[in-house]
Amino acid sequence: MTAYDYDLITIGAGSGGVRASRMAAATGARVAVIESLRTGGTCVMRGCVPKKLLVYGSHFAHDFEDSVGFGWESAKPGFKWSNLIDAKNKELDRLEGVYHNLLKGAGVEEIFGKGKLVGPHSVEVDGTTHTAETILIATGGWPSLPDVPGIAHAITSNEALDLAELPKRIAVVGGGYIAVEFAGIFNALGSEVHVIIRADNILRGFDDAMRDGLRDEMTKKGIHIHSGTTVSAVVKKPAGDLTMQLDGADDLNVDQVMYATGRAPNTKDIGLEAVGIATNSRGAIAVDDYSKTSIDHIYAIGDVTDRINLTPVALAEGMAFVNTVYGNNPTAADRRNVASAVFSQPPIATVGLTEAEAARHGPVDVYESRFRNMKHTLSGRDEKSVMKLIVDRQTDRVVGCHMMGSDSPEIIQGLAIAIKCGATKAQFDATIGIHPTAAEEFVTMRQKRD
Ligand code: NDP
Repeated sequence: MTAYDYDLITIGAGSGGVRASRMAAATGARVAVIESLRTGGTCVMRGCVPKKLLVYGSHFAHDFEDSVGFGWESAKPGFKWSNLIDAKNKELDRLEGVYHNLLKGAGVEEIFGKGKLVGPHSVEVDGTTHTAETILIATGGWPSLPDVPGIAHAITSNEALDLAELPKRIAVVGGGYIAVEFAGIFNALGSEVHVIIRADNILRGFDDAMRDGLRDEMTKKGIHIHSGTTVSAVVKKPAGDLTMQLDGADDLNVDQVMYATGRAPNTKDIGLEAVGIATNSRGAIAVDDYSKTSIDHIYAIGDVTDRINLTPVALAEGMAFVNTVYGNNPTAADRRNVASAVFSQPPIATVGLTEAEAARHGPVDVYESRFRNMKHTLSGRDEKSVMKLIVDRQTDRVVGCHMMGSDSPEIIQGLAIAIKCGATKAQFDATIGIHPTAAEEFVTMRQKRD
């Protein structure tokens, strides 16, 4: 027994914090986790999960349209936004209960309130100080908004998930994951959607074929993408709607403005200065390969460290932390070939290098396919899927695998294992496809692109 209240205090009960706390407790450690909002954190309460439920809910609009080509006659049932939001909220309540039970079952004590470091081994919550031998910071991130006049009138993804009404017209500022996902949700549900990006294309960092493919599909669906455009002010009109004053473009009148211009690490008011924990130039907690901060017994994982800001990566970092500190097995989370998906409509999924990244490492062969899904031969929908394999010419290894199209996240998850195992193009070619699927295209691409 130590003189501390706990062996481990985790600040933040999001995906990474909960996983690390439970697994540490399973090794016999006495663990407490502190949370100021809802147990489950960003992904479960304000991000991935509610977002995906709204993607499912909105996608029915396309399914009803598509069904006509298959003989269905009554293809446009009414939609009630408040019913979708209520159903989503009920599911979040259920999940929060599941998280409470998981922690309880693991013997982890939950402390509700905002945790602040007040000493090297001390965390204060609402005036009470708790001590621990080891501290894990897993406070995540929060939407970051630029300093634009009238920005207070804008919402973020946090509020977009809980709007009282479906906006008739909405402008989404930013062209990253969150912007294109919410643009797809509102567009499918019937809102007039404007996406305002300062760059010339959406999804910086993704493979160009996916970026161009999604931009085309979003445009076909009626989403207005205003590229090379910046917002100079958001003005609230007496009637309650908003005017966006744009640089070099006409004013835009909308009912809601949503900013999705990135997320910042949640490091404010958690006492980093009190203990001397170093942050990096992006304001994130600086950590080594083992997620250790500048203080020996204080660790940090997940979005607060701004490495790869994805839930499964935070889970891997949590597991690596537990192995390192409680398993006598120093472990660095493996961040190579992390697959990810954008739940746009259609979705994009990707693993490995983009063509531009791969080309910087040496000569590559590129296999690319663009086709209309079998389903749309009858539905009549003018939607293309795009697939791309990038192969290292010297080793024949597939170093990048990208897809835009229905079910791409489900397809790429499987291929991510092959990429992780170092599969070659010859091994892809030797794999027999499943027919008729879109996925089989990945094992039948024979023609190199010029
Ligand atoms: P991203 O970093 O993905 O994108 C931010 C977007 O905002 C970019 O288009 C960027 O433009 C633009 N931008 C940034 N600053 C400004 C500014 N001052 N004015 C105008 N535009 C600006 O952030 P998101 O908010 O979309 O998502 C945050 C993170 O959350 C992601 O990086 C991802 O890790 C995670 N996430 C993952 C999801 C998933 O896995 N499906 C879903 C949602 C989020 P430019 O390209 O010009 O820099």
